[in-house]
Amino acid sequence: MQVHRLPALSDNYIFLLHEPEQNIAAVVDPAEAQPVLQHLEKLGAELVTIFNTHHHSDHVGGNQELIQRYPDVCVYGGTQDRGRIPGQQVFLQEGDPVKFSDRTAEVFFVPGHTSGHIAYYFPPVTSDDVGELFCGDTIFAGGCGRLFEGTPTQMLDSLSKLRRLPDNTRVWCAHEYTLKNLKFAQTVDPNNPDLQSRYTDVEAARRRKEATVPSLLGVEKLTNPFLRWEQPTLQAAVNSTEPVQTFARLRGMKDQF
Ligand code: ZN
Ligand code: FE
Repeated sequence: MQVHRLPALSDNYIFLLHEPEQNIAAVVDPAEAQPVLQHLEKLGAELVTIFNTHHHSDHVGGNQELIQRYPDVCVYGGTQDRGRIPGQQVFLQEGDPVKFSDRTAEVFFVPGHTSGHIAYYFPPVTSDDVGELFCGDTIFAGGCGRLFEGTPTQMLDSLSKLRRLPDNTRVWCAHEYTLKNLKFAQTVDPNNPDLQSRYTDVEAARRRKEATVPSLLGVEKLTNPFLRWEQPTLQAAVNSTEPVQTFARLRGMKDQF
């Protein structure tokens, strides 16, 4: 399974999963249809699946047009998003398996950004392979999604689940927010050498107009403040050691940043 990253709208990424042998494709969170249709044409591949993580329009905006062009496409989303995802046919819950070609993803229920948000995790096929996590607006490279419909308790629980996945997991988040996220991270975690070197790398990459997604979950665990609520430095920055309060205060500071 190859993952192609397609830029969309102003700062979204759509991910196209391609299985060259059968020449079939799936798409994660089609913000708009055009980039997907163009890429499918280039590959000569048929779209069989749409995986949606949540109902926001910058994640489902292309569903309708893709369904028109590929009427047999199957649209997946979380069970709590019933009625909010155009064309949704499959209503997923935590732990459900979802198939694409010969790969099976595991579904995580990760409310917080929205009340029905889910993530799709494809475990590695061999032990030296990487896993692929499509987490929408839950974890961002260097950050996390805003809490629009969920509570800090829910989001902390969701991030905890995803944090348990192996370090060698590629994190495919849906927005190019990394540089701004790491700017904020430095203000609350100023003496973290891993964060400093990541910032330098990301700044250089953005100067060259390169994407910073995917990142590795192992790197997120070392540098993303929203996965590091147990760290004394971060607890000191928000003057709390209680996990939910630490997370909620960090998230509140980022909202103002
Ligand atoms: Zn969203
Ligand atoms: Fe989004």
